[in-house]
Amino acid sequence: MHHIGTFVAFDQHSGKELNKVLNCAQGPGASMPVGYLGSHQLTLLQFPACPLPETDEKVGYLAGVLSTPGITGYLLMAVIILLGWFSRPKGRRLSYRVFYAMHHLLVTAWVLLLVVHAANDWVGVGVPVVLLIAGLPILSYGFTRAKRLYLSCLKIELVKVVRSESGQLLRLDVDLPRSYRLATVGEYAYINVPKASCTEWHPFTIAGIEVVDGVQRITFIIMAAGIWTKKVHEIIKPEGERAVLHIDGPYFAPAVTIQAHEVVVGIGGGVGVTPFLSFLSHIASDAASNFKRAHIFWTTRTASDYKIMSDLFSKLEERMQTRGGKLVLHLHTTPKGSIWKGDGIGSLFDLATRHIWQKRVATFIRKDPTMIPTIARYTRMPLHAVVVNDILHSGNPVAIPVGRPDFTRELKAVGNQDTHADVGVYVCAGEPVKQSVEEACVACNMSTTTQKFHFNYERFS
Ligand SMILES: Cc1cc2nc3c(=O)[nH]c(=O)nc-3n(C[C@H](O)[C@H](O)[C@H](O)COP(=O)(O)OP(=O)(O)OC[C@H]3O[C@@H](n4cnc5c(N)ncnc54)[C@H](O)[C@@H]3O)c2cc1C
Repeated sequence: MHHIGTFVAFDQHSGKELNKVLNCAQGPGASMPVGYLGSHQLTLLQFPACPLPETDEKVGYLAGVLSTPGITGYLLMAVIILLGWFSRPKGRRLSYRVFYAMHHLLVTAWVLLLVVHAANDWVGVGVPVVLLIAGLPILSYGFTRAKRLYLSCLKIELVKVVRSESGQLLRLDVDLPRSYRLATVGEYAYINVPKASCTEWHPFTIAGIEVVDGVQRITFIIMAAGIWTKKVHEIIKPEGERAVLHIDGPYFAPAVTIQAHEVVVGIGGGVGVTPFLSFLSHIASDAASNFKRAHIFWTTRTASDYKIMSDLFSKLEERMQTRGGKLVLHLHTTPKGSIWKGDGIGSLFDLATRHIWQKRVATFIRKDPTMIPTIARYTRMPLHAVVVNDILHSGNPVAIPVGRPDFTRELKAVGNQDTHADVGVYVCAGEPVKQSVEEACVACNMSTTTQKFHFNYERFS
């Protein structure tokens, strides 16, 4: 801005003339608006000093460029460019820690530079420039820091710790003090584990909400993803001394609208299932819910991961017999290399089972076309299933298909059950799953005019 205003004036006018309009050159009681904190505070940082020498010589453009506002202006620009560079999605993915540290460093530098930038007090705007430009963000940052300091003093009780057999997932059940507001389905909270890092607060979806004897108990599932989460897996163990942790939340997330739909499809890839587990825990706790039909898909590399939530699934099995609404869990395991590539012993097994499945599907269709089990619905590529009976406390068998769901088929099947009911489709998974579900929604919306498939997406990074 100075390049098109102030510096041009410096080039065309003498110090004597400029002193008449520069805010800093005015004597006490002048009618100009206050420029800095009551004016004349940072005179030591003023270059050139104000008032300017009372000569008839033109001050010159370069004197403006090399002034305190000029130099700090370039530095402010450089800081903004660096902030943009370190905030690129690619950079954040590569190292969130570097992004986080640089953000704190650069934003602080930007605010300090802004203070110095206005030290010359050339223009009066009525309030300190730094407050005018960055007042609100500084206030909200200060509020967050103060709030987290307060939250660090509250005692959070860790009541249950479960590690999945694969070692990838860690489930934490914690009791919150009464000062926390009641969380709702799909929300998330920040967790701080001082033993892992005093300064880091990481966001995690609240995967379960329960009120036990008037105390709010919430569940988190933490996947060992990077430096901090791996440290937390080491520090918080199922047995032994309970680690200290702090919680900031709950906060709103896209999945909170899931309850507004009567027909819901939730698709979670790996730990992305947590928003839907929260929905399931809501249903299991018998809380009022709008839904008539819900289909929850959970795909995971290791089938034993489902066992981490066996208490919830067992409760659901019990509850669904007495309450309204229909709930279907689609648990698909997608171990690495589960897709048949046409070679090895696996291919023989795959071919043999395909043959068996196709025969079975034909028999099912002949008997009753509406009674085809999910795992047999994919006629082109039938899925094998593992039947396990250690997930439900009742010992009832649960079939876990091996392979990805065919989302277009599945969504169409959900829609066909009531062709006039809109379907809320929620996805929390990686890009490939997101894309295939989005395409499936488009295909479904194009094939019907009586219902809409509403696509919603949330991701963790
Ligand atoms: C709203 C939300 C809900 C989430 N829910 C879950 C959940 O239920 N279970 C689960 O396992 N994971 C969840 N995550 C992801 C989890 O926050 C990251 O896996 C975790 O912070 C990774 O930290 P790290 O140091 O171990 O890994 P890193 O390798 O350092 O980070 C991996 C990625 O996680 C993200 N990340 C890292 N640190 C932070 C931070 N302080 N704040 C925000 N994002 C960060 C970055 O995108 C980074 O690229 C959620 C994320 C968000 C934004």
